[in-house]
Amino acid sequence: MAVPKRKTSPSRQGMRRSHHAVGQQAHAECSNCGELKRPHHVCGHCGHYDGREVVAAGKDLKGTVRI
Ligand SMILES: [Zn+2]
Repeated sequence: MAVPKRKTSPSRQGMRRSHHAVGQQAHAECSNCGELKRPHHVCGHCGHYDGREVVAAGKDLKGTVRI
């Protein structure tokens, strides 16, 4: 089994983790109400998707994601 020759220094650990920053989440405007929503997801504000209401807004939003 391959074994590291040396302990990873805190500096090298930081250099490796410099690429681990969290990126910006994808978002799009809802075509019905204009709120920001996740692309290809039901709007958490008005319950519309692809130009029609698929979830009753303000009621049970189980399965939908609000952003
Ligand atoms: Zn909407």
